[in-house]
Amino acid sequence: MNAVAEQPRCHHCHRVLRSAKSIALGYGPTCARKIRRAAVDLRDYQAHQIASARELIEDGGILPLRSVVFLVVSTDGTEIHRTAPAACNCKAGLKGTRCYHQLAARMLLAA
Ligand SMILES: [Zn+2]
Ligand SMILES: [Zn+2]
Repeated sequence: MNAVAEQPRCHHCHRVLRSAKSIALGYGPTCARKIRRAAVDLRDYQAHQIASARELIEDGGILPLRSVVFLVVSTDGTEIHRTAPAACNCKAGLKGTRCYHQLAARMLLAA
């Protein structure tokens, strides 16, 4: 019915995506670049967590839910976590550990 609503949109700026690459990524080229370059405090994170957070974003495994809350697909794809920049309901997050899900949320919010 509404053709406009069915067009794939950038998760960041909500513009309609046209290239197959952008659609697969879920972000337009400008937003993808902004996210990669986002100035995020990485001091509390290890290199492998930073790599995992970037991979999560590029795989489209983290989607905005509302304001600062994101939905994140777990590594094995069986669970969905709710993640904010300083909280996450995955096992590590509930223990107070800074998981890479939170880092990915920070990267997206900083972009
Ligand atoms: Zn965008
Ligand atoms: Zn987490």
